[in-house]
Amino acid sequence: MPPAIETVDLVKEYGELRALQELSLTVEEGEFFGLLGPNGAGKTTFINTLVGLVRKTGGEARVFGYDVEDDYQQARDAIGVAPQEFNVDRFFPIREVLEHKAGYHGVPADEAADRADEVLKRVGIYDKRNERFDWLSGGMKRRLLLARALVTDPDLLILDEPTAGVDVQLRHDLWELVTELNEEGTTILLTTHYIEEAERLCDRVAIMNEGRKVTVATPDELKGRGTDTIAVGLES
Ligand code: ATP
Repeated sequence: MPPAIETVDLVKEYGELRALQELSLTVEEGEFFGLLGPNGAGKTTFINTLVGLVRKTGGEARVFGYDVEDDYQQARDAIGVAPQEFNVDRFFPIREVLEHKAGYHGVPADEAADRADEVLKRVGIYDKRNERFDWLSGGMKRRLLLARALVTDPDLLILDEPTAGVDVQLRHDLWELVTELNEEGTTILLTTHYIEEAERLCDRVAIMNEGRKVTVATPDELKGRGTDTIAVGLES
Protein backbone atom coordinates (compact mmCIF):
# COMPACT_ATOMS: atom_id res chain seq x y z
CA MET A 1 0.00 0.00 0.00
CA PRO A 2 1.47 3.42 -0.93
CA PRO A 3 1.81 6.03 1.81
CA ALA A 4 -1.20 8.21 2.57
CA ILE A 5 0.89 11.28 1.72
CA GLU A 6 4.24 11.36 -0.03
CA THR A 7 5.96 14.52 -1.14
CA VAL A 8 9.43 14.71 -2.65
CA ASP A 9 11.24 18.05 -2.91
CA LEU A 10 7.92 19.86 -3.04
CA VAL A 11 8.24 23.53 -3.94
CA LYS A 12 5.60 26.26 -4.02
CA GLU A 13 6.49 29.79 -4.98
CA TYR A 14 4.17 32.76 -4.80
CA GLY A 15 6.13 35.15 -7.00
CA GLU A 16 9.41 35.78 -5.17
CA LEU A 17 8.25 34.06 -2.01
CA ARG A 18 9.13 30.39 -1.54
CA ALA A 19 6.32 29.11 0.66
CA LEU A 20 7.48 25.46 0.39
CA GLN A 21 11.17 24.71 -0.07
CA GLU A 22 12.07 21.18 -1.20
CA LEU A 23 9.71 19.67 1.31
CA SER A 24 9.89 15.86 1.46
CA LEU A 25 7.42 14.22 3.83
CA THR A 26 5.86 10.78 4.12
CA VAL A 27 2.76 10.01 6.14
CA GLU A 28 1.98 6.31 6.38
CA GLU A 29 -1.51 4.90 6.07
CA GLY A 30 -3.20 4.87 9.48
CA GLU A 31 -0.84 7.42 11.03
CA PHE A 32 -1.88 10.41 13.09
CA PHE A 33 0.60 12.98 11.82
CA GLY A 34 1.11 16.51 13.12
CA LEU A 35 2.43 19.51 11.23
CA LEU A 36 3.71 22.16 13.58
CA GLY A 37 5.12 25.58 12.85
CA PRO A 38 4.70 29.32 13.34
CA ASN A 39 2.53 31.61 11.22
CA GLY A 40 3.73 31.58 7.63
CA ALA A 41 5.65 28.30 7.95
CA GLY A 42 3.79 26.90 4.94
CA LYS A 43 1.37 24.48 6.63
CA THR A 44 -1.73 25.69 4.80
CA THR A 45 0.14 25.90 1.53
CA PHE A 46 1.17 22.27 1.99
CA ILE A 47 -2.45 21.26 2.53
CA ASN A 48 -3.68 23.38 -0.38
CA THR A 49 -1.19 21.67 -2.66
CA LEU A 50 -2.46 18.23 -1.62
CA VAL A 51 -6.11 19.12 -2.20
CA GLY A 52 -5.50 20.88 -5.51
CA LEU A 53 -6.24 24.44 -4.39
CA VAL A 54 -2.78 25.62 -5.42
CA ARG A 55 -0.52 24.28 -8.15
CA LYS A 56 2.93 23.23 -7.04
CA THR A 57 5.94 24.92 -8.59
CA GLY A 58 8.13 21.81 -8.44
CA GLY A 59 8.64 18.39 -6.91
CA GLU A 60 6.17 15.57 -6.40
CA ALA A 61 3.07 15.11 -4.27
CA ARG A 62 0.99 11.94 -4.06
CA VAL A 63 -1.98 10.83 -1.95
CA PHE A 64 -2.33 7.05 -1.64
CA GLY A 65 -0.11 6.84 -4.70
CA TYR A 66 -2.22 9.23 -6.79
CA ASP A 67 -0.45 12.28 -8.14
CA VAL A 68 -2.33 15.30 -6.76
CA GLU A 69 -2.37 17.00 -10.16
CA ASP A 70 -2.27 14.20 -12.78
CA ASP A 71 -4.74 11.99 -10.84
CA TYR A 72 -6.56 14.88 -9.19
CA GLN A 73 -9.98 13.26 -8.83
CA GLN A 74 -8.75 10.00 -7.28
CA ALA A 75 -6.47 11.86 -4.88
CA ARG A 76 -9.15 14.41 -3.96
CA ASP A 77 -11.88 11.80 -3.40
CA ALA A 78 -9.69 10.14 -0.76
CA ILE A 79 -9.34 13.35 1.26
CA GLY A 80 -11.69 15.09 3.67
CA VAL A 81 -10.42 18.51 4.68
CA ALA A 82 -11.53 20.86 7.45
CA PRO A 83 -9.87 24.16 6.51
CA GLN A 84 -8.98 27.03 8.79
CA GLU A 85 -11.34 29.48 7.18
CA PHE A 86 -15.11 29.16 7.24
CA ASN A 87 -15.64 28.61 3.51
CA VAL A 88 -19.12 27.12 3.71
CA ASP A 89 -22.13 27.89 1.51
CA ARG A 90 -24.33 30.30 3.51
CA PHE A 91 -27.51 29.90 1.48
CA PHE A 92 -28.57 26.35 2.28
CA PRO A 93 -29.43 24.54 5.52
CA ILE A 94 -26.29 22.79 6.71
CA ARG A 95 -27.77 19.33 6.13
CA GLU A 96 -28.15 20.21 2.44
CA VAL A 97 -24.61 21.57 2.33
CA LEU A 98 -23.41 18.16 3.46
CA GLU A 99 -25.66 16.30 1.01
CA HIS A 100 -24.32 18.41 -1.87
CA LYS A 101 -20.77 17.72 -0.79
CA ALA A 102 -21.36 13.97 -0.62
CA GLY A 103 -23.13 14.04 -4.00
CA TYR A 104 -20.29 15.95 -5.57
CA HIS A 105 -17.90 13.19 -4.54
CA GLY A 106 -20.09 10.46 -6.00
CA VAL A 107 -22.20 9.33 -3.03
CA PRO A 108 -25.71 8.36 -4.35
CA ALA A 109 -28.50 10.78 -3.34
CA ASP A 110 -30.35 8.42 -0.96
CA GLU A 111 -27.13 7.55 0.83
CA ALA A 112 -25.99 11.18 0.92
CA ALA A 113 -28.92 12.19 3.14
CA ASP A 114 -28.24 9.36 5.60
CA ARG A 115 -24.56 10.10 5.56
CA ALA A 116 -25.24 13.79 6.30
CA ASP A 117 -27.41 12.88 9.29
CA GLU A 118 -24.83 10.43 10.55
CA VAL A 119 -21.94 12.92 10.55
CA LEU A 120 -24.08 15.71 12.02
CA LYS A 121 -24.87 13.38 14.92
CA ARG A 122 -21.25 12.36 15.22
CA VAL A 123 -19.99 15.94 15.59
CA GLY A 124 -22.90 16.87 17.88
CA ILE A 125 -24.90 19.37 15.78
CA TYR A 126 -27.73 17.22 14.42
CA ASP A 127 -30.26 19.48 16.15
CA LYS A 128 -28.95 22.37 14.00
CA ARG A 129 -29.42 20.49 10.71
CA ASN A 130 -32.00 22.92 9.30
CA GLU A 131 -30.07 26.04 10.22
CA ARG A 132 -27.75 27.97 7.92
CA PHE A 133 -24.05 28.28 8.42
CA ASP A 134 -24.16 31.97 9.36
CA TRP A 135 -26.54 31.24 12.22
CA LEU A 136 -24.13 28.88 13.97
CA SER A 137 -21.76 29.88 16.76
CA GLY A 138 -18.00 29.77 16.09
CA GLY A 139 -17.68 26.42 17.84
CA MET A 140 -20.56 24.92 15.88
CA LYS A 141 -19.01 26.18 12.68
CA ARG A 142 -15.84 24.25 13.56
CA ARG A 143 -17.95 21.14 14.14
CA LEU A 144 -19.69 21.65 10.80
CA LEU A 145 -16.35 21.93 8.98
CA LEU A 146 -15.42 18.57 10.47
CA ALA A 147 -18.78 17.07 9.49
CA ARG A 148 -18.30 18.28 5.92
CA ALA A 149 -14.84 16.71 5.84
CA LEU A 150 -16.29 13.40 7.07
CA VAL A 151 -19.37 13.19 4.87
CA THR A 152 -17.46 11.46 2.07
CA ASP A 153 -16.00 8.90 4.50
CA PRO A 154 -12.41 9.88 3.62
CA ASP A 155 -9.37 7.65 4.06
CA LEU A 156 -7.29 10.75 4.79
CA LEU A 157 -8.63 13.48 7.06
CA ILE A 158 -6.80 16.82 6.99
CA LEU A 159 -7.46 19.28 9.78
CA ASP A 160 -5.99 22.79 9.52
CA GLU A 161 -5.75 24.20 13.05
CA PRO A 162 -9.09 22.74 14.10
CA THR A 163 -8.76 23.88 17.71
CA ALA A 164 -7.54 27.45 17.13
CA GLY A 165 -9.71 29.77 19.21
CA VAL A 166 -12.16 27.14 20.44
CA ASP A 167 -13.23 26.66 24.05
CA VAL A 168 -11.95 23.89 26.30
CA GLN A 169 -15.05 21.72 25.95
CA LEU A 170 -14.96 21.74 22.17
CA ARG A 171 -11.21 21.19 22.13
CA HIS A 172 -11.67 18.03 24.19
CA ASP A 173 -14.64 16.88 22.10
CA LEU A 174 -12.58 17.33 18.93
CA TRP A 175 -9.60 15.50 20.41
CA GLU A 176 -11.82 12.58 21.40
CA LEU A 177 -13.48 12.43 18.00
CA VAL A 178 -10.30 12.56 15.94
CA THR A 179 -8.69 9.93 18.18
CA GLU A 180 -11.69 7.65 17.55
CA LEU A 181 -11.54 8.28 13.81
CA ASN A 182 -7.86 7.40 13.77
CA GLU A 183 -8.51 4.22 15.77
CA GLU A 184 -11.10 3.30 13.14
CA GLY A 185 -8.38 3.49 10.48
CA THR A 186 -8.56 7.04 9.14
CA THR A 187 -5.16 8.59 8.46
CA ILE A 188 -4.99 12.07 9.95
CA LEU A 189 -2.87 15.10 9.14
CA LEU A 190 -3.36 17.87 11.67
CA THR A 191 -1.74 21.29 11.73
CA THR A 192 -1.44 23.12 14.99
CA HIS A 193 0.52 25.80 16.84
CA TYR A 194 0.15 23.87 20.09
CA ILE A 195 2.97 21.46 20.90
CA GLU A 196 0.90 19.90 23.72
CA GLU A 197 -1.86 19.12 21.25
CA ALA A 198 0.56 17.47 18.84
CA GLU A 199 2.17 15.49 21.67
CA ARG A 200 -1.17 14.33 22.95
CA LEU A 201 -2.61 13.20 19.62
CA CYS A 202 0.10 12.43 17.11
CA ASP A 203 2.22 9.37 16.32
CA ARG A 204 4.79 11.63 14.62
CA VAL A 205 5.23 15.34 14.22
CA ALA A 206 6.97 17.40 11.53
CA ILE A 207 8.14 20.84 12.53
CA MET A 208 8.23 23.37 9.69
CA ASN A 209 9.73 26.81 9.46
CA GLU A 210 9.85 29.14 6.46
CA GLY A 211 8.68 26.42 4.09
CA ARG A 212 11.28 23.90 5.21
CA LYS A 213 11.09 20.75 7.26
CA VAL A 214 13.07 21.32 10.45
CA THR A 215 12.59 17.85 11.88
CA VAL A 216 10.29 14.82 12.00
CA ALA A 217 10.04 13.00 15.31
CA THR A 218 7.77 11.19 17.70
CA PRO A 219 6.43 13.30 20.57
CA ASP A 220 8.74 11.44 22.98
CA GLU A 221 11.77 12.19 20.82
CA LEU A 222 10.82 15.87 20.72
CA LYS A 223 10.55 15.99 24.50
CA GLY A 224 13.94 14.29 24.79
CA ARG A 225 15.56 16.90 22.57
CA GLY A 226 14.71 19.84 24.77
CA THR A 227 13.33 23.09 23.53
CA ASP A 228 15.70 24.31 20.82
CA THR A 229 14.26 22.44 17.86
CA ILE A 230 10.76 23.01 19.10
CA ALA A 231 11.35 26.72 19.58
CA VAL A 232 12.31 27.08 15.90
CA GLY A 233 8.87 25.92 15.03
CA LEU A 234 7.05 27.95 17.62
CA GLU A 235 8.78 31.26 17.83
CA SER A 236 5.78 33.36 16.82
P1 ATP B 1 -0.57 30.05 9.66
O1 ATP B 1 -0.13 29.28 10.85
O2 ATP B 1 -0.57 31.53 9.90
O3 ATP B 1 -1.85 29.56 9.06
P2 ATP B 1 0.92 28.64 7.60
O4 ATP B 1 2.03 27.85 8.19
O5 ATP B 1 -0.33 27.92 7.25
O6 ATP B 1 0.60 29.88 8.55
P3 ATP B 1 0.85 29.60 4.87
O7 ATP B 1 -0.52 30.19 5.01
O8 ATP B 1 1.00 28.37 4.07
O9 ATP B 1 1.51 29.37 6.31
O10 ATP B 1 1.80 30.73 4.27
C1 ATP B 1 3.15 30.48 3.89
C2 ATP B 1 3.70 31.72 3.22
O11 ATP B 1 3.09 31.88 1.93
C3 ATP B 1 3.40 33.00 3.99
O12 ATP B 1 4.53 33.85 3.88
C4 ATP B 1 2.22 33.59 3.25
O13 ATP B 1 2.19 34.98 3.36
C5 ATP B 1 2.46 33.15 1.84
N1 ATP B 1 1.22 32.95 1.06
C6 ATP B 1 0.23 32.09 1.34
N2 ATP B 1 -0.74 32.14 0.41
C7 ATP B 1 -0.34 33.07 -0.49
C8 ATP B 1 -0.90 33.60 -1.71
N3 ATP B 1 -2.07 33.15 -2.19
N4 ATP B 1 -0.21 34.54 -2.37
C9 ATP B 1 0.97 35.00 -1.91
N5 ATP B 1 1.57 34.55 -0.77
C10 ATP B 1 0.92 33.59 -0.08
